Amino acid sequence: MLTLDGSQGEGGGQILRTSLALSMCTGMPFRIERIRASRKRPGLMRQHLAAVVASAEVSSARVTGAQIGSQTLTFAPDRVRGGEYRFSTGSAGSCTLVLQTILPALLHAPTASTVTLQGGTHNPMAPPYPFLERAFAPVLRRMGANITLKLNRHGFYPAGGGELVAVVEPVGTLGVIELSERGERVNAYAESLIAALPENIAKRELAAIAKALGWNESQLLERNLPRNEGPGNSLHVTLVHRNVTEVFSAFGEIGVTSEAVAKQVIDEVRRYLASDAAVGGHLADQLLVPMALAGGGTFTTSEVTPHTRTNAEVIGRFLPVETDIAASGGNAYTVTMRARQPR
Ligand code: AMP
Repeated sequence: MLTLDGSQGEGGGQILRTSLALSMCTGMPFRIERIRASRKRPGLMRQHLAAVVASAEVSSARVTGAQIGSQTLTFAPDRVRGGEYRFSTGSAGSCTLVLQTILPALLHAPTASTVTLQGGTHNPMAPPYPFLERAFAPVLRRMGANITLKLNRHGFYPAGGGELVAVVEPVGTLGVIELSERGERVNAYAESLIAALPENIAKRELAAIAKALGWNESQLLERNLPRNEGPGNSLHVTLVHRNVTEVFSAFGEIGVTSEAVAKQVIDEVRRYLASDAAVGGHLADQLLVPMALAGGGTFTTSEVTPHTRTNAEVIGRFLPVETDIAASGGNAYTVTMRARQPR
């Protein structure tokens, strides 16, 4: 059985999620030890357990060690089945991370799936729904996947209570992607989502964006959500380029000014715009698993994060592919994945 050290590389939930995803796709069982061993609260947390439970259900897996705080887990999948699924992360655990874990398997299931996920849909440290919808899903569609996403209700950290639905058709084999250039800019806008909080928060965030990026009124969108979907605030900058759409996000927090929230997004947008790369750091790490299942591909990214390096390593344990990451000028890195050559 493949054994992984969960404290290596990024050392958090990513190794577990990527291992679950690839185990289900390849049928290879695995054991992971020292899960999040160097974190303040080591072992599985509720949100990680939610990903394990969802994975076990879609693949009828045999699992040991699936408890809160557990630092060792074994996972042996059976066959992945499509169908109607409903998962809850409880409270505000990110449901988009659960989707990230099970989506590759469902794309390779024999029949279609409808997955309803309840929990956080707009969380820090996870792909927020607008990113999934506008940045991630379109790239997968270009690779041949047929995925439909729908947000029924927003769920912000820490209140949670959101709901999203993903309809996933089987794809057979994903197509190889080549995403070297973002292409010319087609659209750019900022949205501030606000639920059960003073509207002034959204106005101040958008004003800071307008000032820093030189944007006009028509690019600033205030989205007032129903009170019962709050309290919550998130800020998303969407950059639509001909070949790719990127979404950069930050989240309102008690004790953090609206200007400081805006600055987090502005800094990220500036880093991306100062680079010639097609994708930003988050999309980069999330494209690696689909690319590995396609057997290879290439993209340029403005940032190489520990998540990206960790995903590349874990992928190499499950699949006969190798990932090369090299600086390629213009503040960009080229990530290339190809079939591993026999040594
Ligand atoms: P972490 O919780 O740090 O292990 O991150 C988990 C996953 O969430 C990674 O795939 C990140 O790329 C993704 N992620 C975190 N923040 C964002 C964001 N603002 N936009 C898109 N994806 C994100």
